[in-house]
Amino acid sequence: MSWIAEVKAKHTIVSAFSLLGMQGRRMRYGPCPACGAVRTAQDSRPPVRASGRHSWWCNACQQNGDILDLVSYSLWGYSSKQADFKELKKFFLDRDHIKPPEYKPDDNMSQHPPQGQVKWLLDEAYMMDDQQTPDEVWDYIHKRGINPIGGSARCANKTLDHGQLRWVSNSSGKKMPWWPTAWVNLYPIILPMYDHNGQLRSLHGRSVDPNARRKTSAPLGFSAKGLFFMNQKAIHMCRGEYEPKEVWIVEGEIDFMSLEQFTDEEDITVIGIKAGSLNDNLLPIPPNAKIFICTDPDDAGDRYAQKIIRQYSGNTLMRVRHG
Ligand SMILES: [Zn+2]
Repeated sequence: MSWIAEVKAKHTIVSAFSLLGMQGRRMRYGPCPACGAVRTAQDSRPPVRASGRHSWWCNACQQNGDILDLVSYSLWGYSSKQADFKELKKFFLDRDHIKPPEYKPDDNMSQHPPQGQVKWLLDEAYMMDDQQTPDEVWDYIHKRGINPIGGSARCANKTLDHGQLRWVSNSSGKKMPWWPTAWVNLYPIILPMYDHNGQLRSLHGRSVDPNARRKTSAPLGFSAKGLFFMNQKAIHMCRGEYEPKEVWIVEGEIDFMSLEQFTDEEDITVIGIKAGSLNDNLLPIPPNAKIFICTDPDDAGDRYAQKIIRQYSGNTLMRVRHG
């Protein structure tokens, strides 16, 4: 593949906007690399539109082009037809250093995605209060009464090259990265998932689209089997570094985030479960800790509650109603 084909396979116009430090939301970015405008006289939004996967158009100066033109305007002020292609190539190669860690042979790919790559996706994701976090993600969380600052949820980073993650087969046998590129938009909220020893094992994606066909997803080919959402105290408990007096078990990422936000002021340990979380590997909850079960008031929530009650029969347990 030529380096230009590689650049186009790797970057969308939006990821190229980010490479150049342009700021924006909902497909409108600025300042324009050609004219420098941050808005037009008629419109307070940034002037540069993503007009296709690889093309852009400035509403202020009417300049337009592809990814190479965008970078060329930014570096030299003219389109790529006049550009020094060696310099353009160097611009992209210099920025290709953000690569996920390689798959290690000791990663147990039968159970979890490669640990280093999970960590990379989370480390490179945005904090929820970062200005790269789209309005719709922030609004979605805020409308649910959640202040995500300091929580474990992150906003997926659109500029990462997901094609470099380890590829796995999907259910119809097609090979894809274990967290496909399209999921950055489908599941913009990502949360870490830990095993009963408090080790980071996987991540969990959440959609903010009310019409989404699927609201959440585990990595391709993997489930949440034996994995949990955990606040810092829960991680410390599982690593044997902390003995909680109260452990709260909630169902799903939204309830987890809702309770997690109070864990700085309230000294509580919060565990979030999904379908499959409760297998035979027990969380090391001390026998004298009270367990508050806040699963949903439906059949699945009742089943989870019954299982927790059986698994931790030595503890004082309380079912907390919510809704
Ligand atoms: Zn312009």
